[in-house]
Amino acid sequence: MKKHALKKVAFSVVRTAHDILAKQPLPDRLGVYFHALEKEDWPAFRQAISTLRGEGYTFVSVNDYIRPATNPGRRAFISFDDNYKSWYEALPLLDELDVRATFYTNTLPFRDTASGDEISDYFDRIDHHSDRTSLTRGELKEMRAAGHSIGCHSHTHYNLAQLPRSKWDAEILQSKRILEDLLGEDISHFAYPFGMRRFFSEDLRRYCLENGFGSVAAAAPGLQYTVPFDPKFLHRTRWVFQATPKRNLDDIRVDGRWFEKTTGLSAVG
Ligand SMILES: [Zn+2]
Repeated sequence: MKKHALKKVAFSVVRTAHDILAKQPLPDRLGVYFHALEKEDWPAFRQAISTLRGEGYTFVSVNDYIRPATNPGRRAFISFDDNYKSWYEALPLLDELDVRATFYTNTLPFRDTASGDEISDYFDRIDHHSDRTSLTRGELKEMRAAGHSIGCHSHTHYNLAQLPRSKWDAEILQSKRILEDLLGEDISHFAYPFGMRRFFSEDLRRYCLENGFGSVAAAAPGLQYTVPFDPKFLHRTRWVFQATPKRNLDDIRVDGRWFEKTTGLSAVG
């Protein structure tokens, strides 16, 4: 059996064990993230939003998400990572659904400042789709003006765990400054590029918090149940358009804490 097939079997065994042993009710605070939002994904995105609304969630900005609850009820913070023109094109969809989202943006690939090669290298590196299109800075400004929140996702989307500390300023603080100069406001939320456990460290988290970020967001699966809620360290689960809403809700309901503790590995593949 090939290595990736073995890995797939192992994940499905772990998943089934979680479904049986470690399934929780949906959390009161929920972080969900996406990447691109191409037109063909719109029906699945509509379905995701109506599923979550049906489960009683209201959609809030990252600032409202981290505030102590003032009224009971479930809160979800919807976020998008990387830098896609499809976000801008989906503004009417977000209006239609009355969702205000948070866009964690890489600053290298803006298509009015980066070269064509830089942009295709960027997409090749992050999702193997070198033909994708990135935002212009003006489009990001319009997204902010439409009421969405903008966070930082580093400059180039390198794996920060493999970069020496001397490069963190260029990757993280330079990116923060570019967004602040562009939008004329503080950028106080950061999401790790590649958000799995192995891609970040306590050192890196501390660095972000000491350098002007109020929160850092990860994307390691199975950690929505980390208690008590830490407004400086946000956990998010990826919503997969190709999977059914039920399967996505099941992923959210996995409590990966015991699995992580015993194996050091992430709970869901
Ligand atoms: Zn990313």
